[in-house]
Amino acid sequence: MPQISVKAPAKVNLYLKVIDKRPDGFHNIVTVFERINLVDRLSFKTNRSGRIVITCDHPHVPTGPKNLVYRTAEIIRKEYGITAGVDVAIAKAIPVAAGLAGGSTNAAAAITGLNRLWGLKMSRDEMVDVGRRIGSDVPFFLYDASWGLGTGRGDRIQTLPIGRRLWHILVVPKIKMYTPKVYGHIKIPKNGRSRARTSRGGRNMLTNIDDNANILLHHLPKSDVATISSLLYNDLEKVVVQICPKINKLKERLKSLGAQGVTVSGSGPSVYGLTDSQQAAKQIQAHLASRYSQVFVVRTL
Ligand code: ATP
Repeated sequence: MPQISVKAPAKVNLYLKVIDKRPDGFHNIVTVFERINLVDRLSFKTNRSGRIVITCDHPHVPTGPKNLVYRTAEIIRKEYGITAGVDVAIAKAIPVAAGLAGGSTNAAAAITGLNRLWGLKMSRDEMVDVGRRIGSDVPFFLYDASWGLGTGRGDRIQTLPIGRRLWHILVVPKIKMYTPKVYGHIKIPKNGRSRARTSRGGRNMLTNIDDNANILLHHLPKSDVATISSLLYNDLEKVVVQICPKINKLKERLKSLGAQGVTVSGSGPSVYGLTDSQQAAKQIQAHLASRYSQVFVVRTL
């Protein structure tokens, strides 16, 4: 039986603005995604048992129906009339429940992997359609792009042709932060919608999204790290810090060591800052290694 291997990279959000709450309970956001070189590896092999069998080297990742890869395989099997089962092995490098979209990128890898394994010839639109049913962060990973602008729930992606590569120091504190809880606490200003216009069908999203995201996108390709750092923003950060005030201490520590634009990624608890070089990030890593067990030097992938 052939085996398909797929890499699943993590993301950080350079920018995340919550616009409003939708009737379906999700929030409309404007976000800038960056793919980073923290990468899980998944392999897929057809089995004759007709079952979805997941193994994972991380003790806190469920291997049954709660695994996003399981749910993805279930949807694809049902929709494409597949009776065969599949053995999936997941090797995790991305910290779990960290705001780095570990589960979502695994789901995207499953869509890509199963499409190849079972010769489904899914179009990009079909893949994205399955992806957004699994989670808001899944579609970004279905585009082969380092940078993406997300609108809607973050599931409507415009890829950004930016060649820029950034270095980051990324710290993942050992705190569980549940995305629905974080969004549940967010307070949306009454004039939120007027301050940040959302895109309309057919028009270039870049001309319609909020001004601060536009400024960041203008500087991202060519400006210095200090300028880019001054434009990083995350509306969810206030809530994350409220739930876990220790995050503020970590932010201050990172800043004091020279990290720039120190920001929470997604719904946290991951915190990252930018540096001018790999060496600068490694120096900060060396200072933090004794206090935090998960400190990474990562770059744009
Ligand atoms: P997001 O930013 O998309 O909300 P996250 O990075 O904060 O996600 P994940 O790593 O996706 O968080 O984990 C969230 C929960 O999803 C975990 O508690 C875990 O039990 C569950 N989960 C399901 N499938 C996976 C998977 N393949 N890898 C990691 N976690 C998974």
